[in-house]
Amino acid sequence: MNFDLSEEHQLLEQSVREWAAREVSPKIHDLDRQHRFDPAILPQMADLGLLGVSVPAEYGGTGTDYISLGLASEELEYVDTSLRVILSVHVGLNSLTLLVWGSEFQKEHYLRPQAQGRKIATFGLTEPAAGSDARGIQTVAVKKGDRYLLSGEKMWISLADVADHFLVFAWSDLEKKKRRDPSGMTAFIVERAFKGFTSGTLGEKWGILAGNTGFFTMNEVEVPDENVVGRPGEGFKIAMFALDQGRYTVAAGATGLVRACRDASVKYAKERTAFGVEIGRHQLVKEMIAQMESDYQAARLLWLRAGWLKNQGRRSTRETSLAKWFATVASERAAGDAVQVHGANGFSDEYPVGRFYRNCKGAVIYEGTREIHKLMQADYLLGYREDRPTRCALPPFDASVAGRD
Ligand SMILES: Cc1cc2nc3c(=O)[nH]c(=O)nc-3n(C[C@H](O)[C@H](O)[C@H](O)COP(=O)(O)OP(=O)(O)OC[C@H]3O[C@@H](n4cnc5c(N)ncnc54)[C@H](O)[C@@H]3O)c2cc1C
Repeated sequence: MNFDLSEEHQLLEQSVREWAAREVSPKIHDLDRQHRFDPAILPQMADLGLLGVSVPAEYGGTGTDYISLGLASEELEYVDTSLRVILSVHVGLNSLTLLVWGSEFQKEHYLRPQAQGRKIATFGLTEPAAGSDARGIQTVAVKKGDRYLLSGEKMWISLADVADHFLVFAWSDLEKKKRRDPSGMTAFIVERAFKGFTSGTLGEKWGILAGNTGFFTMNEVEVPDENVVGRPGEGFKIAMFALDQGRYTVAAGATGLVRACRDASVKYAKERTAFGVEIGRHQLVKEMIAQMESDYQAARLLWLRAGWLKNQGRRSTRETSLAKWFATVASERAAGDAVQVHGANGFSDEYPVGRFYRNCKGAVIYEGTREIHKLMQADYLLGYREDRPTRCALPPFDASVAGRD
């Protein structure tokens, strides 16, 4: 067992850390206050290779392993959750899904420009009336000749008003929809440019304010057969596969948020005095800081283990769920305590911990709520749930071909 990061990993961690500190940190406060997504960040992320991290060089990516995706997620969320969300939806939920389930046409036509950062992608499963209960979606895909007509509305979609490509889930078998039989669901690639597609931004959000979150509607959008991802009827399995990779980035990102809370709290505890001493000298303040450290270290080991399993090409649904559940709940605890350590100053926007507090909550809700992950973990233990092999699986990381194109 080796707990050291490789030189390549350290280099990646360092370069993302330096870029985010230099380019994003100075303006994140204003972006957040103005509720503004800054599109200029995307080409910079592309230049760093972040939009193609973990995608093989053969398809325009950096050819790095899955641990690299986790490291990048952790570093991005250390600065702001909105940055990590880009990686989650673009790489975790969308590109890695196309890599595994997509056709050669889709890999050339969609994955390659995404990995190169020329096109931005996201994931559309949630609807106004269905989140955790994915079988409750109402979007339908009606077959017409060599295409499908998609109609429905997707809600709470990250980058809805920014992305070019959308991985969309719809019922293609209406009989199975009535029975809620998931084998009636199909996954599609929808382009923003397709006729009948419209999107908007949700303005009432109170967290991740520098990120774009919105909705899109499809009114008989014509999607050609060649844009069906996997086979018709595999949509539900594909959605669950995508979530395995998305949750992994959320786990690593929330770990970065815990670290950000820890570092801000340590700094403040040494600056502020109360009762004649630095507040860090008070035992109850130490307790909060110590909890942040144990949460950070444990969360990091959990996501690293999930990433290691992915590198081996082994199924990691269970471990990824545990990592995501633990890290997001820990980040909520850390952010609450970071505000507490800062006292009234934590209650103002002058310090970043208020933003951390608003940002952490989303991840306790999306990509499987806290409750859904609790149920999953209990069900694995009780023998009520087991992972069966699927037709396609994440390929192991192969260092010998990784950088070749
Ligand atoms: C900032 C943000 C970004 C998002 N980005 C995306 C995106 O890019 N793409 C996308 O498709 N979706 C996205 N989502 C949607 C997200 O995935 C859903 O919000 C999530 O799946 C929960 O669904 P819901 O909000 O409908 O809550 P519900 O499913 O209605 O749940 C409400 C409450 O009931 C509980 N509950 C539900 N079922 C059970 C059960 N069986 N047992 C116990 N408790 C239960 C839940 O845990 C929760 O506490 C995003 C959400 C947010 C907040």
